[in-house]
Amino acid sequence: MTKENKTEFFTDWTYAPSPESTDHIKLNKQYDLFINGKFVKPNSKKYFSTINPATEEKLAEVALADEKDVDAAVNAAKNAYDKVWKKMPAAERGKYIFRIARLLQERAREFAVIESLNGGKPIRESRDVDVPLAANHFFYYAGWADKLEYAFPNKKPQSLGVAGQIIPWNFPLLMAAWKIAPALATGNTVVLKPAETTPLTALKLAELIRDSGLPDGVVNIVTGFGNTGAAIVNHPKVNKIAFTGSTDVGKIIQKSIAGTNKKVTLELGGKAANIIFDDAPIDQAVEGIINGIFFNQGHVCCAGSRLFVQENVADVVIAKLKQRLETLIVGNPLDKNTDIGAINSREQLQKINDYIKIGIDEGAEMYQSSCNIPAKGFFCKPTLFLHTSQSHRIVQEEIFGPVLAIQTFRTIEEVIEKANNIPYGLSAGVWTDKGSKIFNLTTKLRAGVVWANTYNKFDPASPFGGYKESGFGREGGLHGLMPYLQF
Ligand code: ADP
Repeated sequence: MTKENKTEFFTDWTYAPSPESTDHIKLNKQYDLFINGKFVKPNSKKYFSTINPATEEKLAEVALADEKDVDAAVNAAKNAYDKVWKKMPAAERGKYIFRIARLLQERAREFAVIESLNGGKPIRESRDVDVPLAANHFFYYAGWADKLEYAFPNKKPQSLGVAGQIIPWNFPLLMAAWKIAPALATGNTVVLKPAETTPLTALKLAELIRDSGLPDGVVNIVTGFGNTGAAIVNHPKVNKIAFTGSTDVGKIIQKSIAGTNKKVTLELGGKAANIIFDDAPIDQAVEGIINGIFFNQGHVCCAGSRLFVQENVADVVIAKLKQRLETLIVGNPLDKNTDIGAINSREQLQKINDYIKIGIDEGAEMYQSSCNIPAKGFFCKPTLFLHTSQSHRIVQEEIFGPVLAIQTFRTIEEVIEKANNIPYGLSAGVWTDKGSKIFNLTTKLRAGVVWANTYNKFDPASPFGGYKESGFGREGGLHGLMPYLQF
């Protein structure tokens, strides 16, 4: 298909705009820190702006927590742990977590719109994935609260104390749920810091938690930048650190807590291989590849950012990928038809554009959708790189954007070798008609999660986590309870 008639083919139809309403959203001009069940002014007296990355407009001012604020939050958490939460019957703890889940479900639409406004992700994702999954995590862990001795028979599981939790900007509410729900179910109290670019749903969650009647100090939410996160990590009364973010910061955290008896889990970067064999259902596989890297702007640690396609089907797969790329709708995150929303920040867009340039300079062949992108806001066209090789930086390094590096392979041994030859090991995908091939690969791919004939599927009952520089420890499922317990 030539470029000309392809464009003609795809301009035959378009969707009418279908924006989600923001009428039901109530955002304050300014947000304080949530400490000991109340919103309090920061000791620093400083606030920073949080914006809508799709329009670059300011949404609110958010408090900047300094060391004293973090100290107040940790003390509130410690006090609540010693005086209330540790002593509470486990079934009662479960009821509170269940109530948070119910309230989140009731206010799902509001949370979804704020998530898309602040983070840039398409409303379809926040509405259908982020918010329901966040509520489901609370429901799931509410159920475990009074069953810990059945989960770990004869082991006498005990809580740890105060959990310091630091999360990134790609799934702001969902990551908060992944962290808070198991911590509460296991009897710990929490100080959580959302990412500096996406604090709003965590602050809304603070309001919801306050309204739920959870005892004061059991969950504290402080906002700020890396220094605020470091103050949590280094606080002597914090017993456990749960971090999701970059491998660089993960390494800093590991160094800071060396020699202390703090427990830690790190969920870091990824560079997942999505592998298509010649016996795969090609159309479904192409859709899975698109879903794996382009929906959500590639802002997913487990994004399938490396595609390995068996040589004899490479031409057809690449042609179908190019066609599908043309149909992806890039633009307003609040429009229900949008597939690819806004990149989370100017810095992240710059980083992605730098990598696109690196890919071209390395000699890979770039292909981008011919779509238009909005003039204002941070947007990136979905991008394929063909003829890449293992030594290319765009193949080895995490880009965290809608950029897919494609390689071909001939044999199973070759693709396993190539897929594993990377510092990361968070996730992978396999597309084939043969169950035996799937089992062969799942045992040999060094990745925490391997999806077969699907991609980016999550469930609160299944554990998630990495190998190698993607971190350690598991979140979700029964495994997700362990990092918050001592035996
Ligand atoms: P990303 O590249 O995804 O933004 P980062 O690792 O930079 O990932 O950020 C993830 C979270 O870690 C954010 O909440 C950020 O503020 C926090 N953070 C950044 N630097 C540090 C640090 N030195 N110690 C603790 N937390 C940090």
